[in-house]
Amino acid sequence: MALISSESLERVKQAADIVEVISAHTDLRRQGARWVGLCPFHEERTPSFSVDAGEKLYHCFGCGVGGDTIKFIEEKEGLGFAEAVELLADRYGVELEREREDPRAEAKRQQRRRLGELLDRTSSFYAAYLWDSDEAGKAREYMAERGLGEEVLKAFAVGYAPSAWDKVLLRGQRAGFKVDELRGVGLVQKGRGGGEYDRFRSRIMFPIRDRRGRTLGFGGRAMRSDQGAKYVNTAETDFFHKSRMLYGIDLAKGAIAKEGRAVVVEGYTDVLALHQAGIEEAVGVMGTAITDEQVAALSGMVDEVILALDADSAGQEAMLRAQRVAAGRKMRLRVAAMPAGEDPAEMMAAEGGAERFRALLDGAVELTAFQVDLVLARTDVSSPAERDRALAEVAPIMAGLGESASRDDLVRRVAERLDLEPAMVMGRVVAAQPLSGGPAEPDAPRGGGSAPTPRRTAELTSRERRERALLAMCIALPEEGRAYLAKLSDEHLTRLGARATAWLRENPQDPASNLPREDAELSGLVAELIIIAHDEPASPEAMELNYLLLEQRRIEAEIAAAGEAEDPQRRAALSMERAALVQRIAHAERVSG
Ligand SMILES: [Zn+2]
Repeated sequence: MALISSESLERVKQAADIVEVISAHTDLRRQGARWVGLCPFHEERTPSFSVDAGEKLYHCFGCGVGGDTIKFIEEKEGLGFAEAVELLADRYGVELEREREDPRAEAKRQQRRRLGELLDRTSSFYAAYLWDSDEAGKAREYMAERGLGEEVLKAFAVGYAPSAWDKVLLRGQRAGFKVDELRGVGLVQKGRGGGEYDRFRSRIMFPIRDRRGRTLGFGGRAMRSDQGAKYVNTAETDFFHKSRMLYGIDLAKGAIAKEGRAVVVEGYTDVLALHQAGIEEAVGVMGTAITDEQVAALSGMVDEVILALDADSAGQEAMLRAQRVAAGRKMRLRVAAMPAGEDPAEMMAAEGGAERFRALLDGAVELTAFQVDLVLARTDVSSPAERDRALAEVAPIMAGLGESASRDDLVRRVAERLDLEPAMVMGRVVAAQPLSGGPAEPDAPRGGGSAPTPRRTAELTSRERRERALLAMCIALPEEGRAYLAKLSDEHLTRLGARATAWLRENPQDPASNLPREDAELSGLVAELIIIAHDEPASPEAMELNYLLLEQRRIEAEIAAAGEAEDPQRRAALSMERAALVQRIAHAERVSG
């Protein structure tokens, strides 16, 4: 495959009409220099989504998403970069030219293909071994006892890893693969003595495949009681990132599209049992709490996800984080609570299990409502102290919903149950900081996922607002901006602000046409800055004022540090500096009006 040439990429960007593309997903109306509408990425009632037709950029001041036309297509259609470009080229009649690929990238792709073949071959070997070998007899019995038939086991290529230490190692080498390659995909590992041996032995093997059915790793279930870990997975490799994978997605994707929903369960055998029972929209998270990346992957495919997980083990923090990612992507996340001590595989094996499971799916409730109900259920409403405690606990959960009809419903429910005024409950919810389940400090690094965590502009700290205002003016007034970009240091800025500053220094000309697309957070902020630059007034006086305010913050941090270091002299000197600065700020405020 060859790369799209940069000339034709430029032609696609020029030809695509961003207002037309986005209008297919939300109604936009003109407002001054820009177009505004309800955000297609998060639920809201008042428009905070903004499109700059001239620069061909979008940004949501509510949830923080942003980028160019290609980025919008990537996000909305769940496509990769090249696919999104192809779609737009097709739609706007641009002929794409390809370039010969850089030989190193080509070699890397070849190597990936080769390792993919190694994994597929090994998967076939394990699968054949399950059905043909004597030593897998117990594994076949185990599956049969759980009611799992040959058809579903073969569809999922379930296999068995022999007890020998080197079967996979030797077979791989005989087929021409190097030990490094076998280790690189996690099939063999180094022992204490330095020799290599098979990672999976005497285990039922579940190949973990991507959407296109390519095997990327394995989960192995122990068959002997002396084997230590009951489940062993492929270690994280360049190839395999378990937190991004959904078990069974290759076989479930058709049913997910057809049913308009995905059902998420915990274990491998849960997925198998559900598919066998005709609930083919089921995928597995492989024993852990659902991750942001898994939610993001599903949001590209479907609008509704039902979690059929053990209610107690679900992990509240992870659930709330998943809820926020889902809400930011306009996806409904519901919970079908499994009865205590029963998993979907066990339910399917019992008489009438499939009907009971379908009834649970039909009765699934919104994740946030589910969590609020959990709190209410264990509250003794006759005690005022208990009611206070419950309100304090549910307010941040509901705050995560943002302004929405479902939040209003929940507020009414909580008010009724705790015998409080709805307005008072709503007041507490609005005042509460949403539980993010993630870092509390606004500029702490966020988890590695590509989904930006929704955050309202109103939630920005004053430091973030000042730094954004100043950086936007540096774009609006590039002459004056250069001096400020040079002067700003990491001590003035949040971590994200510092990255944006560095990027603007390196891309002084036309920042819009060259977004850092590999970094979603940064390109979102840059799009926002460009849109503000076109929309909000800028003046050298206002720039100076914003800079001085950031400078004041820097000095205050230094004063605090000097205090902690018990350095009174330095502290006194800094305090004088601050006093002078405060006067300059007062002056700058007068002249900037
Ligand atoms: Zn939004």
